[in-house]
Amino acid sequence: MLDCVTLREIRLPLREPFAISSGVQEIRRILLLEVRDRDGLIGWSECVAGEYPNSSPETIDTAWHALREWLIPLAADVHRPEDVLAALNRRVRGHEMAKAALEMAIWHLESLRRQISLARLLGGTRDRVPVGISIGIQPSPETLIDKISGYRAEGYRKIKLKIKPGADRSVLEAVRKAFGPDLPLAADANAAYTTADADHLRSLDEFDLMMLEQPLATDDLLRHARLQEGMRTPICLDESITSVDRAEDMIELGSGRIINIKPGRVGGLAAARAIHDLCAAYGVPVWCGGMLESGIGRAHNVALASLPNFSLPGDLSPSRRYWARDIVHPEWTMTPDGFVEVPVDRPGLGVDIDLDRIERLTMRAEIIRA
Ligand code: MG
Repeated sequence: MLDCVTLREIRLPLREPFAISSGVQEIRRILLLEVRDRDGLIGWSECVAGEYPNSSPETIDTAWHALREWLIPLAADVHRPEDVLAALNRRVRGHEMAKAALEMAIWHLESLRRQISLARLLGGTRDRVPVGISIGIQPSPETLIDKISGYRAEGYRKIKLKIKPGADRSVLEAVRKAFGPDLPLAADANAAYTTADADHLRSLDEFDLMMLEQPLATDDLLRHARLQEGMRTPICLDESITSVDRAEDMIELGSGRIINIKPGRVGGLAAARAIHDLCAAYGVPVWCGGMLESGIGRAHNVALASLPNFSLPGDLSPSRRYWARDIVHPEWTMTPDGFVEVPVDRPGLGVDIDLDRIERLTMRAEIIRA
């Protein structure tokens, strides 16, 4: 039974600024949730919504509003984390990222109550998870090749390149030429193509990619199926998979052969686990995507990715890839051979929350009684 929820917005400085469509970003605005139950236990989570609705309709401001006005009151009397999403869905449509944030903090609470790691509570079986990296579109092939060399030396086990029309074949060609056929290479189009590009997309087969991620629009399952039919490269769906039902549609229609699971996109850990289980039953491999999370969101993702069918490397980069300094102790690290270790021996998230630092970074906070 919830007692209250503290919503906080922190501004976390990035290690290096990066270019996005609306300008150069030097900090990440992050919405954190601190959920207290009536026994005084505290669960933490992070909402993955961004500042601007360019990759999802939600933002941290819409999530704040949805949580305060609708979602927290609906979750007040829910006892089991497995039941949270259904309770929220009965009254509120959409707002998956806001729903997920609340649900994930309640999973953390449950793991503390049961004194086990979140990974084991979810049914995770792995002690370590392979890590891949996602690289944005670079100013030149030389810069990209330098970056890939560095990341390979750090141990990353999958290199994923962002591609878009006009920056795809030439980029993949340069990378294959520099690193040869054995580099584990994937490409992510973030829905930038249409069916008019079908022949062009099929021609990417020659680069032997591990997967081509989300080439077509989010709601285009049928067109993804037609594209996959004539393509050897497995299509991986990301933005399209917003629920277990969409995952089932993908499998039934043949719209893809791999799923990138992000708990924030599907309404939380229970839905993410259900998609994992469905995919396992059909022999569809999955991996855990990233959304520029701090160490708190990372902890939830690592716990989820310890489930057995997360067989492909996840976007679970160590803290220092993004942050000058993270908000958890210890910071997340990667082994020299490219794995993140799952902290299974500690109850909860497996890392300590750096509350002093969070308080210093907090721009606004609000306590909401459940
Ligand atoms: Mg993606």
